[in-house]
Amino acid sequence: MKREHMIGLLAGGSWDLIVIGGGATGLGIAVDAQTRGYRTLLLEQHDFAKGTSSRSTKLVHGGVRYLKQGNVSLVLEALRERGLLCRNAPHLVHDLAFVVPRYKWWEGPFYGVGLKLYDVLAGKLSIAKSRRLNRKQTIERIPNVETRNLIGGAMYHDAQFDDARLAFTLAHTAADHGAVLVNYMPVVGLLKSSGAVSGVQAVDGETGTAYDLHAKVVINATGVFADAVRRFDEGDVEPMVTLSQGVHLVLDRSFQPSDTAIMVPQTDDGRVLFVIPWHERCLIGTTDTPVPRADLEPRPLDEEIEFILRNAARYLSHRPSAKDVLSVFAGLRPLVQPGSGALATKAISREHVVVISPAGLVTIVGGKWTTYRKMAEDTVNDAVAVGGLPEKPCVTEQLRLHGCMARTDPALPTAGHLRMYGSDFAEVEHFLDEDPARRALLHPSLPYLCGQVQWAVRHEMARTLEDVLARRTRSLLLGARAAIEAAPRAAALMAADMGHDQAWVDAQVREFTALAQRYLPPL
Ligand SMILES: Cc1cc2nc3c(=O)[nH]c(=O)nc-3n(C[C@H](O)[C@H](O)[C@H](O)COP(=O)(O)OP(=O)(O)OC[C@H]3O[C@@H](n4cnc5c(N)ncnc54)[C@H](O)[C@@H]3O)c2cc1C
Repeated sequence: MKREHMIGLLAGGSWDLIVIGGGATGLGIAVDAQTRGYRTLLLEQHDFAKGTSSRSTKLVHGGVRYLKQGNVSLVLEALRERGLLCRNAPHLVHDLAFVVPRYKWWEGPFYGVGLKLYDVLAGKLSIAKSRRLNRKQTIERIPNVETRNLIGGAMYHDAQFDDARLAFTLAHTAADHGAVLVNYMPVVGLLKSSGAVSGVQAVDGETGTAYDLHAKVVINATGVFADAVRRFDEGDVEPMVTLSQGVHLVLDRSFQPSDTAIMVPQTDDGRVLFVIPWHERCLIGTTDTPVPRADLEPRPLDEEIEFILRNAARYLSHRPSAKDVLSVFAGLRPLVQPGSGALATKAISREHVVVISPAGLVTIVGGKWTTYRKMAEDTVNDAVAVGGLPEKPCVTEQLRLHGCMARTDPALPTAGHLRMYGSDFAEVEHFLDEDPARRALLHPSLPYLCGQVQWAVRHEMARTLEDVLARRTRSLLLGARAAIEAAPRAAALMAADMGHDQAWVDAQVREFTALAQRYLPPL
């Protein structure tokens, strides 16, 4: 996939659908629409998954906590989607065991019953049955668990993934089927014809070239920015999105050295907290902090970091402190504002909502990564009606995503991050073998190879150092300091491939370093 090639396809293109926003929601819609046979264009203002979709807890889950709220239909839908995603992208999504440690006698039956219900709801798409653990088994599963007053635990299964990699995989899948997707191309206005939305005004963020692009229907999938795009259409329309920030901390693997996650069922503020092994690190989160405005780089608050450390410490014998934090990142949840009228317009589920404006702008808000496919199906169904397109069936339930390959396939390595390339792995290996320098580690404490930087530039539409270090590789999340140290080398590799000079390298390193400082914990 090359951006230059995509830009070339813009001139003279005519589109059935234009999707604004390249996060989980927009990319899922592009896959759905293009594979139904609609000519689809997706425009992203920054990089794919720059927003919320690279800042999640990285779980493909039914949501045990929704069971506590009695929201069975939502859990059922998410469990079904979990099963489909495990089948359609097994190279990126895998089983993860969770243990809920027990310190009070009544917690046994309480969690046991809830988790059995979770098993039943998963039905044929269940990963593995939940079960009770005694004290010894709990300690084996969570070697760093707080053992004082520990009785045992309850174990259940969900799935885990790499959010930014899945986002790019969706972009690749849509492109494989003929969709056009462009990053660094903000939509700055809407085109109207006889009062109806008929396209978008967009600007190439790299060259400044302005485009008028026409479509039968335009979909607003901009997450926390949805109201800003709605205002292109309806002026001072009532906001429908409300924002909640969630922060995660990344620590050394020694804080959770096994391949099992911990689910803390009740934090100080009554939420759940996860301690999760991820890419040979330990990921802990999250928080739920109302914030007033959307930002592509939300800032973690000191009190959110303290909250996570304090609540995790109650369950860990080796307790983390701020100095142990390798990286801290924040994301914004786009929630549908109660009473905005949006819920009454069309509540498809409690989690996501599709709203159609009088001029025909289709806006989708809410949901979660796990249900992106179903959200896309619902949105495209509505968009087809709005655009007067011929009806065609959704095919994504059965659609294998780009690179689909079982993690246990003998053609893949048995461990390590190169498995994320799935069926592209052989080609990546060949590319790495062509030059021994490509097999050099980018940084001693990061798992990535220099050749992966070049691969990201040549095949994954990476344009900036941040694209490579934050999303094509997850260096920034695995260690902000290490990522800063790796920046000059990665930028030089990119420049050599892209034909940029030293001034570009210096500017990229400067910009990335300023950004990465915000991922360093407060000392
Ligand atoms: C802390 C946290 C943890 C979470 N954990 C999980 C989890 O473990 N599992 C799960 O299933 N879900 C999880 N979620 C939910 C999930 O991450 C979100 O539902 C999902 O990522 C939202 O995707 P989106 O595409 O709607 O939004 P985004 O990813 O924000 O995408 C919107 C995109 O639109 C672009 N855009 C905005 N304006 C314009 C414009 N004018 N022109 C062009 N592009 C524009 C933005 O740059 C952005 O990339 C979590 C969310 C948070 C915040």
